[in-house]
Amino acid sequence: MAIQRCFCGSAISFDKCCQPIVLGLQKATTAEALMRSRYVAYVVQDADYLIATTAPSHRRYYAREDILSWATQNQWQRLKIVNVTPTTVAFKAYYLDSDKQLQVHHEHSRFVFENGEWFYLDGDYFET
Ligand SMILES: [Zn+2]
Repeated sequence: MAIQRCFCGSAISFDKCCQPIVLGLQKATTAEALMRSRYVAYVVQDADYLIATTAPSHRRYYAREDILSWATQNQWQRLKIVNVTPTTVAFKAYYLDSDKQLQVHHEHSRFVFENGEWFYLDGDYFET
């Protein structure tokens, strides 16, 4: 049986890469690992995970229904990591919109390590 590579585009199988993180069995150990798992959460439409991994101080800026509609109205194609620092990740997420047009979400995200866990803080978006 073929091993399913992780949706985040790593060479690792899904069940050893982002799946245990999204399921809450493991913590993301780096900002990049958290970012990858959050992309996967969009693929599998897990809005609760996306809220849980947003910094508590910033959760009020993100509505669950907005996250869920953004996750479900698009077909997520692939993730490309552009640049990584210990607390930031620049990436491009490719998706088909509701008109089946290929779009690119280009974001420079910031992360924070609080109480032993990585959280998403916010991001800048770029026109592509
Ligand atoms: Zn992964």
